[in-house]
Amino acid sequence: MKKEDPEKVLFTLNEKFRFECHQGLPCFNTCCRDISIFLTPYDVLRMCRSTGLSSQELLEKYTTTMLADDGIPLVMLKMRDDEKETCPFVEPDGCVIYQDRPWSCRMYPVFPLSSEEVEFLIEKRASCLGFQEDREFTVREWKTNQDIDSYDEMNKGYKEITQHEFFQKGNTLDAGKAKLLYSACYDLDWFRKFLFNTKFFEKYDVENDLIERMRNDDEELLKFSYRWVRSILFSEDTLRLKDEAMEKLLQAGGREPS
Ligand code: SF4
Ligand code: SF4
Repeated sequence: MKKEDPEKVLFTLNEKFRFECHQGLPCFNTCCRDISIFLTPYDVLRMCRSTGLSSQELLEKYTTTMLADDGIPLVMLKMRDDEKETCPFVEPDGCVIYQDRPWSCRMYPVFPLSSEEVEFLIEKRASCLGFQEDREFTVREWKTNQDIDSYDEMNKGYKEITQHEFFQKGNTLDAGKAKLLYSACYDLDWFRKFLFNTKFFEKYDVENDLIERMRNDDEELLKFSYRWVRSILFSEDTLRLKDEAMEKLLQAGGREPS
């Protein structure tokens, strides 16, 4: 079938567009298929919350991952293996993980043109009847309406990793470091076990109240995973070794003790 050629319009944060999506529209649900949805670590965290699955189960069942040329994992939502390639979360009444749907599903039909989010592209498809509704939003109002702020806040730390100058200078991750980035940020249950079932806190200087918060607070845990990843991938001082660990490191001639 020929792909639809949408009208593309550029917007800034405070310009208005007409759009509303709701169950009463004949096109309801028809767009939740045959799409490429890239997932951030926070998307996965939220989807685990809605589905009740562990991060490992969710990643195995609902995602596919490939590596970009620089070694950054690209995690995508896996569509159903049916004729229409429908999203596994779409049901007749709508999205079953609606309150925890991914960032891209919230932003639709608005696409930021850069990470600075100064300009946005809106693709007006004739088949999307939401553009014929009367409600108006600025892009800023749309983001509030779709509760994007908590996503932006949590994605900021991951963007700081994927857009790090390490990559801007043309460096790439080897397979081991790509796996580490994926496991720590996307497979949060693995990361929790890694912290609490090893001697991690004997080695790294982490405040006790943060350690306690991370036991039950996934958002805190994810933010901490960003810190750890930065210290390992880019040798940044986002985490401090305890004095004894530092002593051993110096005695070993700078190589980190295992
Ligand atoms: S209005 Fe657009 S986004 Fe909403 S269901 Fe229809 S096609 Fe999808
Ligand atoms: S996650 Fe929900 S909103 Fe996003 S494509 Fe799937 S069913 Fe649609």
